[in-house]
Amino acid sequence: MKENPKKEQFRDTMEEGELVKDGFLGEDERPVDEIIAADQALLAGAGFTAERIGAAMRTLTRQGMAGMGEEVDAGEYLVKAEEYMGLIGCPFKDNHRAAKRNTTATRKSTGRAMMWTDLGIHLIQKHGFFQGKGSPYRLEPLELAAFLGLEAE
Ligand SMILES: [Zn+2]
Repeated sequence: MKENPKKEQFRDTMEEGELVKDGFLGEDERPVDEIIAADQALLAGAGFTAERIGAAMRTLTRQGMAGMGEEVDAGEYLVKAEEYMGLIGCPFKDNHRAAKRNTTATRKSTGRAMMWTDLGIHLIQKHGFFQGKGSPYRLEPLELAAFLGLEAE
C-alpha cells in the first residue's frame, strides 16, 4: 500500500530537522502517527491525557516566567524559564508559533528536574506528540505525568 503523500511530506519535514537542529524524532524509526498512538495508549492505560499533562507544564512555565530568567519558587517546584529571541513554527503546519523558551522545573521533594520548551508543550497538548525516542527533547509520558504530580483519572 502506498503511503499517503501528505504524511510522507510531513515525515520529511520532521526528519530533516528543518525547524530545530536536532529534529523531533531522534533515532525513532516509527512513523509519527505510530509514536503518537503508542504514547496515547500508554497514557490512557494509566488514566492520563496529553492535554492535562500539557496544561500542567504550561502552568509551571507561566510561574517560571515571573522570574525573568531567574529561578522561581513555585510551591512544590523550583522553576526557571529562559527565553530566547524569536518564534518557532509548529512542525504540524497548523500556523502555531511558539516562543523560544526553555523551562526547567525541579521538584523539591525528589530533586528530579525536567526540561521542556514552549513548542514541546504545544506538541504534547495539541498533538499528543512527546517526540521520538532518542530525541533530546523527548519526555516519557508516564514519567512526566508522575513528575507533574497528576492523579490518574
Ligand atoms: Zn501544532
